[in-house]
Amino acid sequence: MNVALILVAAGSGERLGAGMPKAFAPLCGEPLLAHALRGIFGCAGVSHVIIVAPGAHLDECREVAARVLAGGRPLVDIVAGGADRCASVEAGLSALRQDDGIVLVHDVARCLAPAELFERVISAVRAGSPAVVPGLPVTDTVKVVDAAGLVLATPDRDSLRGIQTPQGFLREVLQQAHSPANPAAGSATDDAVLVERTGGHVQVVTGDDRALKITSPLDLALAAALLQDGSYAG
Ligand code: C5P
Repeated sequence: MNVALILVAAGSGERLGAGMPKAFAPLCGEPLLAHALRGIFGCAGVSHVIIVAPGAHLDECREVAARVLAGGRPLVDIVAGGADRCASVEAGLSALRQDDGIVLVHDVARCLAPAELFERVISAVRAGSPAVVPGLPVTDTVKVVDAAGLVLATPDRDSLRGIQTPQGFLREVLQQAHSPANPAAGSATDDAVLVERTGGHVQVVTGDDRALKITSPLDLALAAALLQDGSYAG
């Protein structure tokens, strides 16, 4: 079964404050998109990459992909994103090729995710899990609060995982999750929750610290430190 990867990179990046879409914000002299593509292209198991880019930046995206891509593989398609993350994933789904049987969805914001993390997720789907997410134990105590900030509950920390991307799915599972026929479809912060809401099973595999999500300027500084420290090389 061929593996396609949808890289959602159409966010505005307002919280990062770089004055440009996050995918093009510089990290150690290169856009986040270039770092993300280097990790993905380093994963031999991915044969088709669909980059979902801001509509006004498709040419810039094409240039970055051409610069990073060495040799003829994988196949790369570039499509314009939607108004929110779900709409951008759906735009990516519309570009799947006939022989794409497993689909990974990955946030450009996790641009330092190493190739071995992609391989781990793909292996778990190939081993029979229809939906797979990488996760790490949380170190903070997490509380559920209401709109006024009143604490409603404190889940047992041992049962919590911080969930990352890439998330991997059998193609039909992801397509059904995002289908208008799914009453749970619509706004969601990840893809697995759409599977969960319809009673589907989602398997957690071990995540990776390097797959941190770059949201704030502090995250960007941390990512730069990781890149400069050879012991964390992806
Ligand atoms: O908004 P958030 O930080 O959760 O976005 C997660 C990912 O979804 C980012 O990689 C961002 O580029 C992507 N995204 C997108 N299209 C949108 C909004 C977010 O591709 N309209």
